[in-house]
Parts: sequence; structure tokens; C-alpha cells
Amino acid sequence: MQQAIKELKRLFGYDSFKKGQDRLVASILEGRDVLGVMPTGAGKSVCYQLPAAMLPGVSLVVSPLISLMKDQVDALNQAGIPAALINSTLSSKELNDTFRRIAAGEFKIVYVAPERLESERFYRLVQELHIPLVAVDEAHCVSQWGHDFRPSYLAVGRLLEWIEPRPVLAAFTATATDVVKEDIVSQLRLNHPVRVTTGYARDNLSFHVVKGADKQEYIARYIRSRPKDSGIIYASTRKDVEELERYLNRLGVSAGRYHAGLSDEERSKSQELFLYDVIKVMVATNAFGMGIDKSNVRYVIHYSLPKNLESYYQEAGRAGRDGEPGECVLLFAAQDIMTQKFLIEQGEGDPARKKQDYSNLNDMVDYCHTTDCLQRYIVQYFGDPSKEPCGRCGSCTDERELHDITLEAQKIFSCVVRMRQRFGITMTAKVLKGSADAKVKQFGFDQLPTYGVMKMAKEKDISGLINVLVADGYLMLSDSQYPVLSVTQKAKAVLEGTERVFHRAVVMKDQGSGQETEGAADEALFERLRQVRRDLALKERVPPFTIFHDATLRDMCVRQPRNEEEMLSVKGVGQHKFARYGEHFLREIRSFTGRD
Ligand code: ADP
Ligand code: MG
Repeated sequence: MQQAIKELKRLFGYDSFKKGQDRLVASILEGRDVLGVMPTGAGKSVCYQLPAAMLPGVSLVVSPLISLMKDQVDALNQAGIPAALINSTLSSKELNDTFRRIAAGEFKIVYVAPERLESERFYRLVQELHIPLVAVDEAHCVSQWGHDFRPSYLAVGRLLEWIEPRPVLAAFTATATDVVKEDIVSQLRLNHPVRVTTGYARDNLSFHVVKGADKQEYIARYIRSRPKDSGIIYASTRKDVEELERYLNRLGVSAGRYHAGLSDEERSKSQELFLYDVIKVMVATNAFGMGIDKSNVRYVIHYSLPKNLESYYQEAGRAGRDGEPGECVLLFAAQDIMTQKFLIEQGEGDPARKKQDYSNLNDMVDYCHTTDCLQRYIVQYFGDPSKEPCGRCGSCTDERELHDITLEAQKIFSCVVRMRQRFGITMTAKVLKGSADAKVKQFGFDQLPTYGVMKMAKEKDISGLINVLVADGYLMLSDSQYPVLSVTQKAKAVLEGTERVFHRAVVMKDQGSGQETEGAADEALFERLRQVRRDLALKERVPPFTIFHDATLRDMCVRQPRNEEEMLSVKGVGQHKFARYGEHFLREIRSFTGRD
């Protein structure tokens, strides 16, 4: 492992491993298969890139998205690790050339699109090579139960049988519930893999749910308050993307758009401008996805409700991949639930699948209503045992007082029980309100003792409160298009008077942007270093962050290195990159500090 740490420093410029990396790297070097489940930004790439650089021969990396491949290959070559890619973007001449150079042993790492694995030519090639390691990135794509199933991923398991001796197989994903994890192991035929799960919490992200805001206005204000930051705004339909992009551009914000209805050309153009920091804001559907390996995305706003927490965490997780603070805001409106239900009904899933989809949607809606820590809610959803509250999210920073709402809760629970746990939120709220609705009368609910017991409250607020009680686990909603309320064990304790219920005021505050301003001097130097990076990037035609990440530039601002040795102690500066770029940045720092 001594050697691995040395190489980590030399090639990648890092002094130590992040959580989980050491075990994964060590296991691969020992010849064990591995399954690494680590959140976005945890540093999965290093786990296979480092062993690949150290092991004799050429390692293969299977990765689902073409744009992502190119960035990674660029970054590896920048770090002095010769790498190539095989995918559909190559012309046949480039392809011939790449195959020839692979066969000649010119590369340490070759990225391959899954669709390319089963060509006869590729089978012949792999038999001529020494392949110590096959890494599968975004391995959840191999599972039908994941959120991004790609049938061509199944080719990986088959391919492995053709390579002698069998390489080590290393699979990585950010999102895996237990079902998906088991599916990865069996579909890829992992051989007693060493499993490393680092937990899902992202300590640099803060989560927020904003309810009842004018969404467009909120977004405009938000973007204006952080003009220098890059951000992604996810909307669920193409129409919303188009509308929002036009709205922002009218306001003078240069925003790009991305959705499946655009031409390939426009999409890759749009993505490139964003990657190169030419446009700061990208408005997109979830088609703008795994390819986005941009490390300095500072915020992700969801304009509409995602269909489940897996997708939400994956998308929101694109903020702050460089470890610097990132903000994830979900704009919630109750109508969005109807849109998602409509999509489930329109979908082709069988009844079991639909039931699962409704259940996932319920969990997503609960997330929007919970007053508990949002990060903890997500982490628990993925099966991690409960953690301390994060202290950063909308719930943790909510300063409104806690109110004892035991009495209201008891009224609601008892009404649900009296309605025989067969009705949904709206109907229950109507009964509590004492509504003259025809249906209420038709079922005879106006005869119940709980009819009108909350007549002083607005029906909307009663529904809101019921939602909170669902989110906090007192009530349950069935998994169907028209979910039905029932009481849980936790509510029974409240009805019996042994537990009390506390809640913050129902009115949701409007969350402004919470970012603090850094020291002005730091900020000025940071801007200058960014400019140096931008110039170099333009000259070399690579995305700026493949030269240095924002986090690396920030570390330079803090340390203000004066010479090579000091520069090499900056997080993210390895020898190779120092040789290529170090002097440019040292010069700028010297001129800024007036020292030499
Ligand atoms: P993932 O694929 O898990 O989402 P990446 O491999 O893209 O994450 O890495 C996320 C970020 O963490 C990158 O900016 C990477 O350079 C950085 N990183 C990786 N390993 C280390 C390390 N040992 N120390 C510091 N930063 C690291
Ligand atoms: Mg990754």
C-alpha cells in the first residue's frame, strides 16, 4: 500500500485516500473482485484508475456515457496515464488507429462503451492482450431494478469468459438499494467480491425543499444572487425546459438547454459550453445525465418533483463533486404529484412495477414534507442506519419554534380510524374541516364525531399537516394511484396518550441563498487563477476542470505556494500536472502576492 500512496500522490496529486478508496485499491491489487458503493463525488474513478496505472498490461473501463468517457480520458492523459476510448464517436480511421495502438501496448487504460463490447473485432483484440482489470462504472445500469437499465451492460459478464487469465472485475455505483446490489453481483458474475459501502451522506451538500414559491421568480432570484456559480436546473418536460430557458435568457442570464428532443449536434454543443464554463446555467430534463462529470457545479435546482429518491439523489448529487459546498433545492408544488402519477399510469409497467413506482413516489413526496433532517431522510432511505442530523439542510437550519400539535394529530388519527382507513388525504381533510361536499354526505361521514373538529383551520392546511404526519411516519399511504391513509404503531401511541407530537409551523419559509462570501482577497486571487486556467483550457482545447478542479485552485489561494515543492503540497497537484501547468499558476500567485 506504501507504493499505492506514493503513486496516488505522483499521478493524482493527493496525499491520502478518501474513505473507502484504500480498501478498494488494496483489494484490486491483491486480485480480488470488488463492489464499491459510494456516493457521487466520493472518488470512485481513482479506485480503478490507480490500480490500472500500477498493474502490468492494459485495463478496460466500461462506462455508459460517451461524453463522460472523453473527459475522463482527457484527464488521465493530463495526469500522465496514457488512455484511449472506443465508442461510436470515432471514425473508422480513428478506430483502426486506436485498435492498432492498443495492440501495440501504448495505453494503460481503455474506456469502452458497453455497446462495443460484443464486436468480433473486440473479442479478437482482448485475446491478444494482457488485461489485469476490468472496471465497470455506473454498474447499476446492469440491473433492471436500477433507474438506468442498459441491456448492453449484460455483455460484460459474457466478455469476461473470453479473457485469459480472468481479469479482476471491479464494479462501482453511487446508487444501490439491496436489490440492485445483489443484481449487480449476479449479472456481472462477480466472484465473492469485497464489498465497500461508504454510506450515502454527502457532507458538502445542503438540501432544501421550497414550497409554494413562484418557481420562475425563485430561480431568477437565486441565479442572480450567485452570478459566478455554475448550476443545473432540472425540469420534467421538454416544454418546461424550453420555457424556462427562454425566460432566463430574456432576463439576461445566459442559460443553455438540453433535452432528448434536440438534435445530437445541439445537445453536444450545449453540453460543451456548460463544461467549458461559457454558460453558467443549464436547464435540462433528466436526459442531461450521467455524462455530466463537471466538478464545479455549485447548485442543482429541481423545478419539478422527480419520480423517486434514487433519481433525485443522483441528479442533485451532481452538485459539489469537487468537495466544495453545493446546494440542492427542490421546488415543490402539490400538482407535480399528479404529473408523476399520470406518467406512472401511462407507463408500460406491469401491476407489480406500478405498485413499486407509486411506493417510490410516496417516499419522494414524504421527503418534501418531512421536518426531519433531509440528508438523514435520504441516507435512511438507502438503508444506512440513522445518522446525526446534518446541520446544513432546510430542516436543520429552520429556526422556527417547535409546537406541540398532539391534539391536532389525535383528531386526525381518530378521524382516519373512523373512516375505516379506506380514504385518502383530501377526503379526510374535508371531513375534519366539516365540508358540505356531496361525497362526504354520501358516505355518511357528516355523522362522525370527528366531522368538523378542525373547522377553524383551512382545508389546505389540514392536508398539509396530514402530509407531515405521513412523512414523519405516523400515517401511511398505500401504494396506488389513489393512496389510502392508515395509522401506524407510532400514531397508536399518540392516540393512547403515551407519545406527544411536535412540529414546526406549517407555513414554509422562502429559502434565500445561504452562501457566505469568502474573504475578498481570496476571491480576487481565485478569479485570477480561474482566468489562467481558462486561458490554458482554451489553448489546449480541454475543459478547464481537467487542468485543475476548483477545489485545487481554492487550496492554492489558501496556501499561496511560492515554489515547486509548496505547489506539490496543494491538493490535486501531481508531478505531471505540475510540469505542464505549475509555472503558469505560480507566476500568477507571485504577481498577486507581490513576492518572488
Ligand atoms: P465519483 O465517480 O465517485 O462521483 P470522482 O471519481 O469523479 O467521483 O471524484 C470526485 C472528486 O474527488 C474529483 O474531483 C476527484 O479529483 C476527487 N478525489 C478523488 N480522490 C481523491 C483523494 N484521494 N483526495 C482528494 N480528492 C480526491
Ligand atoms: Mg464517477
